[in-house]
Amino acid sequence: MPETLFSLAEQIRRCTACPLWKQRTLAVPGEGPKNAKLLFIGEAPGVEEDRQGLPFVGRSGKFLTEMLNQIGIDRKTVFITGSVKCHPPKNRVPKTKELAMCKELWLDKQVSLLKPKLIVLLGSVAIQSSLGEKKDLANVHGLVVEKEGLHYFLTYHPSAAMRFPAVRKLMEDDFKKLKRVLN
Ligand code: SF4
Repeated sequence: MPETLFSLAEQIRRCTACPLWKQRTLAVPGEGPKNAKLLFIGEAPGVEEDRQGLPFVGRSGKFLTEMLNQIGIDRKTVFITGSVKCHPPKNRVPKTKELAMCKELWLDKQVSLLKPKLIVLLGSVAIQSSLGEKKDLANVHGLVVEKEGLHYFLTYHPSAAMRFPAVRKLMEDDFKKLKRVLN
C-alpha cells in the first residue's frame, strides 16, 4: 500500500523511536488538507497540543490563526505540523538527536507527500531541524531559502512573538512579506 498522510499519521501515533514518546499523552502528526500548498513547521507540541493530539491549538495556535487571517489565509487551507511530534517534558527544547530522528522518520515523508510550494519555518528549532544548521533569526527572518529543491520562508515562532512586542512586529512584517512571496 502506498503511504499517505493518513497512514503516516497512524504510524506517528504509535512511534516509539526516540525517548519523547514516553511522556506524551497523544502524538501530534499535524493537520491540514493533503493538497495544501503551504506547510507550516513549528517546534514541538505544547501541553494543550499533547492533550488534544492536534497542532497549534493553545494560545500560540490562536495567535498563528490570527496572523494568517491578517494576510487573508484561512488556516484550514494550510498544513501545520511540528519538528517533533511528541511533547517534550517540561516544554524543554527537543534535542538534536530527537529532531533528526523525527525528521528522518516522519517530517521528510510528510514533505515529500505534500510537495508544498513553500514551507514556513516557525522559529529557530524548526530552522535547525529542516535546514540542518542553527541560524540567528535576527539575520534571516523574512528570507526565502532554497535547499534541495524545497523553498523555505524563515520567521519567528508565535510564542516568541506573543512574549516580546518587538518580535511580534517583526513577525507581522514577515507575514506581509510572506503574502507578497505567495502572490
Ligand atoms: S518525537 Fe517523533 S521520533 Fe520521537 S517518538 Fe515522537 S514521533 Fe517518534
